[in-house]
Amino acid sequence: MQHRGEYRISVAKDYLVFASAHFITFAGHRCETLHGHNYRVSVVVEGALDPESWYVFDFGVLKRIMRELCDDIDHKVLLAIQNPHLQIAEQGDSVTVAYDNKPRYVFPKRDCALLPMPNTTVEMLAEYLTDQLRGALEGEGAKGITAIEMEVEENFGQSATFRVRL
Ligand SMILES: [Zn+2]
Repeated sequence: MQHRGEYRISVAKDYLVFASAHFITFAGHRCETLHGHNYRVSVVVEGALDPESWYVFDFGVLKRIMRELCDDIDHKVLLAIQNPHLQIAEQGDSVTVAYDNKPRYVFPKRDCALLPMPNTTVEMLAEYLTDQLRGALEGEGAKGITAIEMEVEENFGQSATFRVRL
């Protein structure tokens, strides 16, 4: 074989899900009420073949990392700490959330995931998971990976995909 093509591997498993609460804000002065989704995640990793193993990356390790990333935000309230309309503050064991300085919610801190993003859209969640995966792959010593594509679905047939070339 000549090995002149390109390779992509993908993982989409039943357990790559997270059931979480969120709300997003819209342009102007509109904010959703709190609600939940059963989010589903799938990932594509592209790259060169590992010269000893003849694969792009170990499926077992990729599945473990993705499962951990989903577990981290499973059963949490997802809060976008970079949202300019939201004032999110930690007070003892609680997190308080105000929208345009009007108090809205108080959550137990352990039930919250404070995420470095401006809105908890599926687009931002896909980018966030990509960043997390990228860091984890580096930690595993992955070499030769050229792109990551992350899809996050919030409803059947309603998803966003983020793609980054490395
Ligand atoms: Zn939603």
